[in-house]
Amino acid sequence: MKISYDFHIHSALSPCSDDTMTPCNIAAAASLNGLNAIAVTDHNAIANCKAAAEVCEALGIAFLYGIEVQTSEDIHVVALFDSYQSLEAFFNTLTFPPLKNRAEIFGRQLIYDSDDRIVGEEERMLLASCDEGIYDICARIIDMGGKAIPAHIDREANGILAILGEIPPDLPFSALEFSPYAPKELLDRYSGFKRLINSDAHRPQDLMTGENTIEALSAEARDIWLSI
Ligand SMILES: [Zn+2]
Ligand SMILES: [Zn+2]
Repeated sequence: MKISYDFHIHSALSPCSDDTMTPCNIAAAASLNGLNAIAVTDHNAIANCKAAAEVCEALGIAFLYGIEVQTSEDIHVVALFDSYQSLEAFFNTLTFPPLKNRAEIFGRQLIYDSDDRIVGEEERMLLASCDEGIYDICARIIDMGGKAIPAHIDREANGILAILGEIPPDLPFSALEFSPYAPKELLDRYSGFKRLINSDAHRPQDLMTGENTIEALSAEARDIWLSI
């Protein structure tokens, strides 16, 4: 069956994201847009995934557990897991430089519960590269049962093509992610890969609107995750 999706969405935990990107607002926007499945993928952090999953479950939206890791080369990689436990186990292996966020400059890093109440604020600066390179990060995503997807490969900023010049054939990517504005010529060049078009939304109005679909055996999160 066809599944409309958006597997790259930032919550208010990401400093660059709008503070209105709460679990309920993200799930409501996904529902209004007719999406069957989403993932919340904050920069180097996972603290809003559980709350967003709860709200999505209540609205009948399949939820994949994700994170957008910034590697030591400044490349953005989306990692998707089929359970919070797997995502958390992977997240706990990551190490970051000891930098503190300056909310007045970069924005707040808000943690919400599933009723959209603020329950905490992350102090670590999330817009920083982790300590490891893309080969180590991708190998561990796979080892720990996840899917590794280079993010927005058509974009200059933090895209793998802009930084490495190519998609190294020995990296175990499940799919390539393009932004909604990727040129057709680039899509065609990588037609041999599975393709995901995600929003990278930082505001509720920027979520995908259902025009892109993938095939999955069912609308269950596990089947959708398996189809990537
Ligand atoms: Zn990114
Ligand atoms: Zn992003």
